[in-house]
Amino acid sequence: TYELGTPDRKVVTTCAYCGVGCSFEAQLNGDRLVRMVPWKHGKANRGHSCVKGRFAYGYAEHPDRILNPMIRETIDQPWREVSWEEAIGFAAQRLRGIQGTHGRQAIGGITSSRCTNEETYLVQKMIRAVFGNNNTDTCARVCHSPTGYGLKTTFGTSAGTQDFDSVEASDVVVVIGANPTDGHPVFGSRLKKRLRAGAKLIVIDPRRIDLVRTPHVEAAHHLPLRPGTNVAVLTAMAHVIVTEGLVDEDFVATRCDAEAFEDWAAFVAEERNAPEATEALTGVPAAELRAAARLYATGGNGAIYYGLGVTEHSQGSTTVMAIANLAMATGNIGRPGVGVNPLRGQNNVQGSCDMGSFPHELPGYRHVSDDAAREVFEHVWGASIDAEPGLRIPNMLDAAVAGEFKGIYIQGEDILQSDPDTRHVAAGLAAMDCVIVHDLFLNETANYAHVFLPGSTFLEKDGTFTNAERRINRVRRVMAPKNGFADWEVTLLLANAMGADWDYTHPSEIMEEIAATTPSFAGVTYALLEEKGSVQWPCNEVRPEGSPVMHAESFANGKGRFMVTEYVATEERTGPRFPLLLTTGRILSQYNVGAQTRRTPNTVWHKEDVLEIHPHDAEVRGVREGDWVKIASRKGETSLRAHITDRVAPGVVYTTFHHPDTQANVVTTDYSDWATNCPEYKVTAVQVAPSNGP
Ligand code: SF4
Repeated sequence: TYELGTPDRKVVTTCAYCGVGCSFEAQLNGDRLVRMVPWKHGKANRGHSCVKGRFAYGYAEHPDRILNPMIRETIDQPWREVSWEEAIGFAAQRLRGIQGTHGRQAIGGITSSRCTNEETYLVQKMIRAVFGNNNTDTCARVCHSPTGYGLKTTFGTSAGTQDFDSVEASDVVVVIGANPTDGHPVFGSRLKKRLRAGAKLIVIDPRRIDLVRTPHVEAAHHLPLRPGTNVAVLTAMAHVIVTEGLVDEDFVATRCDAEAFEDWAAFVAEERNAPEATEALTGVPAAELRAAARLYATGGNGAIYYGLGVTEHSQGSTTVMAIANLAMATGNIGRPGVGVNPLRGQNNVQGSCDMGSFPHELPGYRHVSDDAAREVFEHVWGASIDAEPGLRIPNMLDAAVAGEFKGIYIQGEDILQSDPDTRHVAAGLAAMDCVIVHDLFLNETANYAHVFLPGSTFLEKDGTFTNAERRINRVRRVMAPKNGFADWEVTLLLANAMGADWDYTHPSEIMEEIAATTPSFAGVTYALLEEKGSVQWPCNEVRPEGSPVMHAESFANGKGRFMVTEYVATEERTGPRFPLLLTTGRILSQYNVGAQTRRTPNTVWHKEDVLEIHPHDAEVRGVREGDWVKIASRKGETSLRAHITDRVAPGVVYTTFHHPDTQANVVTTDYSDWATNCPEYKVTAVQVAPSNGP
């Protein structure tokens, strides 16, 4: 601060790390950012923050940032710095050339949950209206796509039901497959405050996360399930609720589809779904599970919060539906204190899904086969839209390996590091003729790129992010883009070079188009956001002030729909060669693959990823604290140091994935959610043995 000077101006903007969406005041001295101060009027954080938003913004000025566009004919050639005009022209010509040779469907793109709503909207518009296909996908594919499927199927729309304030009215909180004190720290603090004030806590997690026992907070029940058995545990809870007469009959009768409820109730009541029948499978003591189910059903306002430990499974979508079933059966929907709340990972994963990033959905979650919805966009865009869904990321890679998919535009996403089965991703990228990486840094994916377009940070652009509570927060330009263009401007240049005639001059104009085409955003304008600070969608003529709580009078699809959630074991099995189950997560100071946080002082808190292993499993392998161990799966192997702890159960090991050296995804499998292809990151059978290091 002394070196940078005293602030002489302030700009309020939104943190670009997690889905809490904290508001910050960026304090500047001239053009230099002096500090980020949590903004007391921010409705998601009310003046609080964590160490990421507060301290980890220095990556914006890191020397690793690439500020000039680069191209190369083939990926074995060195990069050549060129002008923006030449880079965009090269990219456009290659993409059009591919389509000329291999057809309209041979190219596609990936939107970024790190970028703004306006930028994401523009990328999917470019793919649909300019590329002429639906080959658009998003990094939500690998995190919360099952939330999209599961909540839309049951509740009729793909979003969390509550605002963060809601937790203050909760009597019982279920946290499943999430670690809020590390992953969503500002919400985690708020949750702890409510728990200290008397709300009861149920944690369903293979690992003893901090919330299970932390000063002045102790979970009423911790169900340490075996990784991969979420559906069996939740169905067993439903069994208790149905067979012990704990269903909220009034709610079900008035708000839910009767036939679907009958089918579901008959299914969960079967004896094979009883806690006693599933105990050996799940590892959860039946008595504990029964007690937890009774507490959730009878303890007052019951709220469920969940994370990637729910979605990143071969039954991720089934698990989301099982959660929704529990909430409907107990009437825990539609008022403060209750609900089903996905804790979104990235800052704008909610927004990237809202904005039509998926290959089957237009903005506002309308299926591409919906003629009326397509007509709205065709009219505004002046282009025809395919009625057939396009390719998902894994399908694009498969098609690339098969020689049918040849070009991709990737905005703000390092798929080589973040997607499963690294070798397959590399093979897909290597088979393409035009890989365009639009990012801050030369990431791992850029090793396979022909065009590198420098990206801009959240400090360098105007726009909006939508957080986990559907809150649309303004992102304000704090400084000029160091690369010359905000990301939305780069997409505009590329689209126009490929034949479009777009003339947006500010992201507010893109929001006007979003509002004109997307019913849940119909009332959203930058003027309203200035006036209110933020609003939660749906925001339209019915709810001009936005909607803190959803499904208050009826579900988005009319009646809530119970779904039968049959447990199906993952194909990934332990055995004599791979006897342990690996699961993964994040820690407080770091963020995902670390592209940003590793380039900030936050590295002092986390210099390397380690493998948590139970004392028994360590002892039988001769592993001591801090030893190097080799971890191998059927897919690959990597090395890291061991940390011996009983936070993990015997038979389970755990690591984070913030450092590229760890290469956790070298060992993860290519199994994925049956409905959405979300990778099964949370269950990998592995062997662990002492090693001499990497
Ligand atoms: Fe940023 Fe999330 Fe931390 Fe808030 S809780 S400061 S949004 S990383």
